[in-house]
Amino acid sequence: MDRSGSRSPASWAGAESHALIEQGDGTIITPKMNEVNVRTMEFCRRWAIADEVHRCPFPPDYPLDVAFVTTLSGHEIGRMPRPPRMSEQPEPHSPTRLQVCSQMWFDPILQRFARRFPHVRLHYRTRLESFAASENGVSAEVVEIESSQRRHIEADYIVGCDGANSMVRRSLSIGLDGKTLGHPVHLYFRAPNLLEMCGRKPTTFFITVDRGGVWSNVRVIDPVNAMWRLMVLDAGSALDAEAVDREAYLRRAVGRPLKVEWLGTSVWTRRSVVSQRYAKGRVFLAGDAVHQLSPTGALGMNTGIGDAVDLGWKLAAVLAGWGGTDLLSSYEIERRPIGAATTCFQATKSSGDRSGCETSAWLRNSIAIIKNGTMISPSSRTTAPWERRYGGAWAKRSCATSAACSVRLGFRSVIATRTHRSVSPMARHLTLMTRKFSCRRRGPVRARLMYG
Ligand SMILES: Cc1cc2nc3c(=O)[nH]c(=O)nc-3n(C[C@H](O)[C@H](O)[C@H](O)COP(=O)(O)OP(=O)(O)OC[C@H]3O[C@@H](n4cnc5c(N)ncnc54)[C@H](O)[C@@H]3O)c2cc1C
Repeated sequence: MDRSGSRSPASWAGAESHALIEQGDGTIITPKMNEVNVRTMEFCRRWAIADEVHRCPFPPDYPLDVAFVTTLSGHEIGRMPRPPRMSEQPEPHSPTRLQVCSQMWFDPILQRFARRFPHVRLHYRTRLESFAASENGVSAEVVEIESSQRRHIEADYIVGCDGANSMVRRSLSIGLDGKTLGHPVHLYFRAPNLLEMCGRKPTTFFITVDRGGVWSNVRVIDPVNAMWRLMVLDAGSALDAEAVDREAYLRRAVGRPLKVEWLGTSVWTRRSVVSQRYAKGRVFLAGDAVHQLSPTGALGMNTGIGDAVDLGWKLAAVLAGWGGTDLLSSYEIERRPIGAATTCFQATKSSGDRSGCETSAWLRNSIAIIKNGTMISPSSRTTAPWERRYGGAWAKRSCATSAACSVRLGFRSVIATRTHRSVSPMARHLTLMTRKFSCRRRGPVRARLMYG
């Protein structure tokens, strides 16, 4: 928040000017997130951009099915039909519904929205080099990457939304609690005839299961432009993107040689961690800087947007002079338990492992509250939202498909997919939308399913 900016009549809350510092140019070549959940769509509705998100290029009639296959051209073991979004209706407790909208479309929508506010300044290709915070303010050194020009910014507050390796968090010596879950690789490619060549009907997700168990998934990102992403769940540690044998992975997933146009490779670390602090004095942290969770369930960005909304109005209130002295300290009190619970929840879902879930008691309490009538119990067969959303027949068919899948794969149990929604009374903001695939193999080995 730049002190030198003028107050704009268009400002929502009368806040001073805001500067966004981003080292990238705003272009997303290898998009991570695809699903904007109900709570984020509610925010989009509040900001009058929900229609724009709904109109994103993901075809509204494209089935969101998940298929379990040996390879894309091999056997189909099971299929969970998920209706295309045009046939989905909002549930009774929200006017919005989940929207499939890749980050490569969603980020520019947010960017255009931010540009509409004269008091917001977006500085792309600009890197935050260092900052110093005192009781009275924050000073930051930034550098414009093309010109190498350095600039000094004086501000009231700084918010580090600088991702998993947050320089802001590290500068404050704030640690992360949790653990590393694996080292996935994303391979992005264009393959216009993939479905036809493999004899498949339109499907959003293929989960590949071969002799090594569940090892990858193939997800359509942009059906119109035939853009797909192959995610290898664990490619071993410290792998260089250049060293990834893309052709070999693609052949294993597709089950035959396939010529594709490669669009990008991204190697990353899947973690289940939450930051020990969300703020220190005038410095705040949000998004992946404070919570990193398995992408299964599509909660990473959605939780981050919840952070930004919570912190945003509080900063605006304090800058405008009507926020009380303790308002800003409520950010960590409200949002950290949510980050911790969501992280724990995702880790439990993707691995079945609850160890290290410091917030399990908190989570149990919130589920109990949900059961007590504030919200719907996820374990109740009669009221589960995934039944009401798609109808009981759809849910039973999905369970049957998963059960059949478990028998054929020799799994002892499969907890069928379900959409689980909860709202924490502590924050009133959080909506969890998770899809649960948890497969346990016979014996001690656990197969992990991951998608996102
Ligand atoms: C495979 C996959 C699928 C996913 N699917 C979903 C999904 O469907 N729904 C969902 O909600 N979430 C999903 N996520 C998670 C989601 O992508 C992340 O939670 C989200 O991108 C985090 O946003 P962020 O802004 O906090 O961090 P980032 O996206 O990492 O952004 C941080 C930004 O800070 C910039 N930066 C860093 N340091 C500096 C510096 N010193 N100066 C200037 N700029 C700097 C970086 O350039 C970067 O642009 C998925 C993740 C993965 C890996």
